[in-house]
Amino acid sequence: PPIVEREVVRAEPGPDAASRLHPVLEARNLTRSFGPVKGLDDVSLSVGRGEVVVILGPSGSGKSTLLRALNWIEPADSGDVQLNGESLPWADATRRIARPERLLNERRRRLGMVFQSFALFPTMTARQNVALGPRRLLGIAKAEALRAADALLDKVGLGDKVQSYPVELSGGQRQRVAIARALSMKPDALLFDEPTSALDPESIGGVLGVMADLTGQGLTMVIVTHEIGFARRIADRIIYMERGRLLMDLPRDVAFTTAAPDYFRAFLSREG
Ligand code: ADP
Ligand code: MG
Repeated sequence: PPIVEREVVRAEPGPDAASRLHPVLEARNLTRSFGPVKGLDDVSLSVGRGEVVVILGPSGSGKSTLLRALNWIEPADSGDVQLNGESLPWADATRRIARPERLLNERRRRLGMVFQSFALFPTMTARQNVALGPRRLLGIAKAEALRAADALLDKVGLGDKVQSYPVELSGGQRQRVAIARALSMKPDALLFDEPTSALDPESIGGVLGVMADLTGQGLTMVIVTHEIGFARRIADRIIYMERGRLLMDLPRDVAFTTAAPDYFRAFLSREG
């Protein structure tokens, strides 16, 4: 069949939109190739303070590659990522700086990341896992870090599990520890990459519930998920990707109406 070129549909943010007034994360013209495959094809995106942006798209469309580029886990080949108006060092792989590691770690620390599989330290309790970053990286005293960890674990519904080891927790509980751990660093934004994809069906609701609670608290969040119903409930904006391209960027209230482009509506009916 002939390849029909997809129309790119983006709503211009209004003059008082958070992405314009208080941009936290800004990606400009990100490109990333894997041999002949374009993982990212000229992707630009701005996320404002307190905004909840959900990224949807079929498998292999570049969603994880985009999050890794935003967080500097894997640099884009070209383009720029700004965090609070500052370019990340090395945002363009050709712009090498002498000793980037310290700077990169500093920047990465300001973006909390929650992955599909939660890498908790197995020999540490939930509260030790959550307190580790603040102790090691922020220099917070042990007693204070543990107290803060307990409060965060309580916030994600695990107040009675602070002394449990990861092996004693269900997948969903471990993922909630991972969310508490990301929050413990007081990040400027939280990035989620399919946080419920690896969970048992009965664990998914608890994790989505914790994430929904966070959206009401002014946190800036970028969420990759296949949970369409959840996206529809909590997102401010919906982004849709296909073959490395950002095709759609619309307010939630528009994205789930007949005003959305046909390819997105077709995707929703396939996923739903
Ligand atoms: P998604 O997260 O939307 O499923 P990805 O970002 O993982 O998609 O992948 C986008 C495209 O880039 C896919 O075609 C994938 O096969 C390719 N890709 C991603 N990472 C690599 C890699 N490290 N090496 C080769 N190809 C990759
Ligand atoms: Mg992915």
